[in-house]
Amino acid sequence: MDIFTKKRLAIASVVYWLLLAYIVVALVWWFIALENQNHRMADYKFSELKLDDPAFQSKYQAIADEMRIKDVQYIGEGATFLVVILIASIFVYQAVRRQIRLQSQQENFMMAITHELKTPIAVAKLNLETLLKYSLSDDKKLKMLQATLQETNRLNTLVSNILVSSQLEGGRYRMAKEELELSDLVKTTVSEFRNRFPERHWQCEIDSEIDINGDPLLLQILVNNLIENAIKYAPKESPITIKLLQKGKTINFQVIDEGPGIPDNEKRQIFEKFYRIGNETTRTAKGTGLGLYLCKKIVEDHDGHIRVTDNLPRGSNFMVSFTVKHTHEQ
Ligand code: ADP
Repeated sequence: MDIFTKKRLAIASVVYWLLLAYIVVALVWWFIALENQNHRMADYKFSELKLDDPAFQSKYQAIADEMRIKDVQYIGEGATFLVVILIASIFVYQAVRRQIRLQSQQENFMMAITHELKTPIAVAKLNLETLLKYSLSDDKKLKMLQATLQETNRLNTLVSNILVSSQLEGGRYRMAKEELELSDLVKTTVSEFRNRFPERHWQCEIDSEIDINGDPLLLQILVNNLIENAIKYAPKESPITIKLLQKGKTINFQVIDEGPGIPDNEKRQIFEKFYRIGNETTRTAKGTGLGLYLCKKIVEDHDGHIRVTDNLPRGSNFMVSFTVKHTHEQ
């Protein structure tokens, strides 16, 4: 959270709590005033009673009963009102905080996205212009083309993430679920990543013939995003482990890295839209905070679960599990 957002949150909180304190104090004050009035009325009625009146006892009792009933009524109404105000204020407070946080994350996202879109385009353009203008050695040409391809891939992931998340949110994405071999999808994706990042150390344990009923494009985005994060956040020399295993009706897909890991208090938040660990000044890796949000949405749309745990001794372990509903025999 940046300083500006923190300041806005602090001001909103102070104004809010002052207003709430005023409402509670006013409520208590009205309660005391009503109680006093009630007792004064009863005292007045008592003073109007005549001692020699044969109905004195019953009239006295009636006034005392009325006073008690009003006491109970004021206490009951006051307490209900207070509880309703407190519950409502907690809801409003949480909603305001969420809104301010979302707004600031959205602003960060806009800044990040402008940068993320412009950089790969600029790099690709420069590389292509250089290739056109100068006659380079084959080795240099290859390096430049590889770099350009890498930038295009980054751009592709980014654009897919943005488009698909906005379509999924607006309910405009029509899921094309089909029976597909997840093993193939994961194997092909990993071999593409191996080609793109040959310097990384890949460890794979991918069972064959694991089928799933799912949307190929969405599952591809899920696998890409998790692997890309491992590449992005874990040191270059550390291994990346990819596992796809099936136990009974449960399919488990894991991407394990030996990077910085995710602090316990952020293990849930990283799946929120635009959420990124750290702040704009401490962050070194590029990103938009959309990747894991989209992963969670995709997994849930396939009735699965995603979570992250610590990998020991270091790093994180992203675990996705799906339950197989249909088999080939059906
Ligand atoms: P982005 O990578 O674009 O910032 P994500 O939604 O993919 O967005 O991830 C959200 C945040 O979770 C990242 O900013 C990063 O701080 C953290 N994160 C994601 N994957 C990893 C990982 N494998 N290791 C450490 N931190 C991670």
